[in-house]
Amino acid sequence: MRRSARRRRTVSAYREGDRTVVLIPARMSEAEEQRWVGVMLDKLAAQESKRVLGDSELSERAQRLSEQFFEGRARPSSVRWVTNQNTRWGSCTPSEGSIRLSHRLQGMPEYVVDYVLLHELAHLLVPGHGPRFWRLLDAYPRTERARGYLEGVVAADRLPHLPAAREE
Ligand SMILES: [Zn+2]
Repeated sequence: MRRSARRRRTVSAYREGDRTVVLIPARMSEAEEQRWVGVMLDKLAAQESKRVLGDSELSERAQRLSEQFFEGRARPSSVRWVTNQNTRWGSCTPSEGSIRLSHRLQGMPEYVVDYVLLHELAHLLVPGHGPRFWRLLDAYPRTERARGYLEGVVAADRLPHLPAAREE
């Protein structure tokens, strides 16, 4: 906790190594201080949970999902984010074992990213979208929900943009 005489109203917080620094105005009361520390810790935790996975974390996640749902049979050689993929959420090259996810998935709920990862992992085992493919994905309990979420995103993209929305 750092009190600052220069700080009049604003409270801010950040991580410094494994410590959390909360900056508060010097004149704040003990009770207010307690309340703000709680608020700021919640805020930091929320920001961190939305943090984007790096490529190496993405690979670890793919491995865990493969183990959990496909008995570890899908073994990608690389899993990474790409920014040049705007019409597909994910793609894979089975001959190379490489998987690419669109950066547009970043910030979407975890279960949605997991679904797209599993979808591409399944293609390493079964090409195309036949019954065998979907049977594999049936193992993942949130397949339908994730597909619905992504369909909703696509539909929302097609809505006309209202002038007011541009200001956001
Ligand atoms: Zn597919």
